[in-house]
Amino acid sequence: MTPDGAKDAIKEANKAHKQANMQLVVVKVQNATEGDAGNDGEFNKDERKAVRTFGGKELEKLPNQKGLKICFGKTPTTESPTNPGISVHKDPTLIVKNRATAAETGQTIAHEIGHVMTLGAGHTVTSTQKANAGGHTPNTPGETGKENLMAPSNYRTDTKLTADQIAEMQTRKYFVGKCSTQFNSAFPAVKDKQQFGANTDAGNDQGGAPAIFDLHQMFLASLESSGVIQSQISVQTPLPGSAIGATYTLGFDSDQNAATGVAYSGLPGVDRVVKISASGVFGTPGFSLTGSVIDAVTLTVVSPLSSLQAVIADSLVDID
Ligand SMILES: [Zn+2]
Repeated sequence: MTPDGAKDAIKEANKAHKQANMQLVVVKVQNATEGDAGNDGEFNKDERKAVRTFGGKELEKLPNQKGLKICFGKTPTTESPTNPGISVHKDPTLIVKNRATAAETGQTIAHEIGHVMTLGAGHTVTSTQKANAGGHTPNTPGETGKENLMAPSNYRTDTKLTADQIAEMQTRKYFVGKCSTQFNSAFPAVKDKQQFGANTDAGNDQGGAPAIFDLHQMFLASLESSGVIQSQISVQTPLPGSAIGATYTLGFDSDQNAATGVAYSGLPGVDRVVKISASGVFGTPGFSLTGSVIDAVTLTVVSPLSSLQAVIADSLVDID
């Protein structure tokens, strides 16, 4: 894939994303990558995981630490060599094959970004239709079938999105992009003032503890006009089908002053600790997720966390 080839493919992807009021802007195209053993453009499961970790770390270097990373390869999934693309629901790095034409590659990029923007397994296509377990629309006529962007490439004939799909993609806009709001069509759009932070951990540094105790990625996003911070934290491995009792803590130097607060796990000046506990068997009614923000000095609860939700980050493959 040449830098111009990548840009042409992005141009094609943007044709599809325009209907969701989204636009991809190329920040950087590079050949060097990490995670692809042998540098052969063929990715097995472990290589894909390493590519996603590298992608997360690359995004951290951007000024606002957000965006999407597209990794082009000859064979995104060695297990099914003809698959043109793969993404993990909510992970910002997608892996795409450089296909025969920029239009095809662009469509696959747009499709995978659809998955990343939470068009996952069983997503709502219309009030009366859900996507299948692979996050895809069926091989039926019309915009909710093979004309939909979320139809797999072996029968996709167009790149349409329904109003429900667009609304779902918009829920994730502050995690991946710069956003603006147009209050009235007669006036120019106004930039949304946002705060953002992200971090990706290379992994397996949890000592002898099971991998569910190892944090992988964290994203925080908030609008300056709002008191709500949206966050997403992922662990290195899916939660097991047996009972767990796990507690995760994150320390924040919320006033950016090393002289206030306490030293917490090597970080000085921590004033607030976010604590999240997971217990029971994931996916069963007995599973519980609780959390609160704690004052690191007085150890009192400042506020509970709301709307906590545990999800499996499905791996979603396109089909060719
Ligand atoms: Zn797909």
